[in-house]
Amino acid sequence: MLKVSKFGGSSLASAEQVSQVCDIITADPGRRLIVVSAPGKRHSQDIKVTDLLIAAASQRLAGKLGASECAEVVERYRSIASELGLSTEVVEPIAHDLTERLENSTTDADLYMDTMKAGGEDNCARLVAQVLQARGIDAYYVNPKDAGLLLSDEPGNAQVLPEAYNRLRTLQERQGITIFPGFFGYSRQGNIVTFSRGGSDITGAILASAVRAEVYENFTDVDSVFAANPSIVKDPAPIAELTYREMRELSYAGFSVFHDEALEPVYRAHVPVNIRNTNNPDADGTRILPDRKSTDIPVVGIAAMENVCCIYLSKYLMNRQIGFGRRLLQILEAEEISFEHVPSGIDNMSVVIREENLSVQKEKRVIEQIRQTLAPEDVFVERDLALIMVVGEGMRHTVGIASRATKALAGASVNIEMINQGSNEVSMMFGIKSGDMETAVQALYEEFFNGDNSST
Ligand code: ASP
Repeated sequence: MLKVSKFGGSSLASAEQVSQVCDIITADPGRRLIVVSAPGKRHSQDIKVTDLLIAAASQRLAGKLGASECAEVVERYRSIASELGLSTEVVEPIAHDLTERLENSTTDADLYMDTMKAGGEDNCARLVAQVLQARGIDAYYVNPKDAGLLLSDEPGNAQVLPEAYNRLRTLQERQGITIFPGFFGYSRQGNIVTFSRGGSDITGAILASAVRAEVYENFTDVDSVFAANPSIVKDPAPIAELTYREMRELSYAGFSVFHDEALEPVYRAHVPVNIRNTNNPDADGTRILPDRKSTDIPVVGIAAMENVCCIYLSKYLMNRQIGFGRRLLQILEAEEISFEHVPSGIDNMSVVIREENLSVQKEKRVIEQIRQTLAPEDVFVERDLALIMVVGEGMRHTVGIASRATKALAGASVNIEMINQGSNEVSMMFGIKSGDMETAVQALYEEFFNGDNSST
């Protein structure tokens, strides 16, 4: 059976890490389809290769050279290659490729930027293939265009096109180990387009789904997914198993260990995901599955997401007005604003939006439109909010979770601005002031993980 294994930027940041990645690849004959990110940070002050490439592209777009940032990227590859004993000739085509990208036409700024960004993964994949070949292993770089990774024409935020799956399926017939660059593909017009940031996870998921992999291994720099953010809760519990739905909710609200858009392809194909640590490959990691046996634990994780705002409006007898909600959402649609949640009462509605999607100018226009079209008694926007998500499949058949959560928040003097529970009952959302976020996560963690986390 075939495994798809993806290695993140921190796993490829230095020669030592690349060597460790090659050890992991060769330790299991099932690992035949490998997806790599661009080299990430070697230490906390370092800059990711992708960020250097973005800086170089921004310089060029501003009419400057961008050459020093580009040279820094070449130097990153050079040091990896030389520390691994590869001839410096290996770096020449990389330097050539990056210079060519830098000198490309900047007429279409978005396409130019994506071509630059993709250079990180593309050259990393070529380098990893060469490191493996130098070890005498049958490993080959493959270009996403030749493999058929067709994406929508949305630079920086592309989506896979359905026809890509059939084309990518043939990857399983290839000899040896295939090294596939993450993060980008090609539009129907033949242009390089990238996914959103962190998108190599998405590439891996698409390939795993296309070849119906036995497992999609996602190697990163932590032992597992944890029940809460370790920078907020000290030593949070590791999670051994999660369902796709639970992971979706957690990654939506800030668990950055796995890209939330990467779940859809594996979910559809029922390919299990295994999050693992490159620097501790013997650890079992976290498995993400269609179902999990142990749903007797009602809450698996607590996530928090900052930078949200909310439009509140109230109108007496709103519940009797047919089309009120539609007209409200239509105003947002006309301004191209996507919304996150719509908690409502009989005479009021709130729309939760990410701050980045509601600029001050848009806010003015939206409020004006709402006043004119819906004539509410009151309408205002509240900013500086955070959403806390309490997530777990077991909540569905457990009485009293909401009461425990609200009691824990009250005990920590956190005022709840909003509550929402999706109809699938996999998560419960609390809207609170941003300043209370850490206190809220700690209080909920204490309640569900250091208290009694059972359904009985
Ligand atoms: N290198 C890209 C980024 O930094 C994609 C990835 O690492 O997954 O966003």
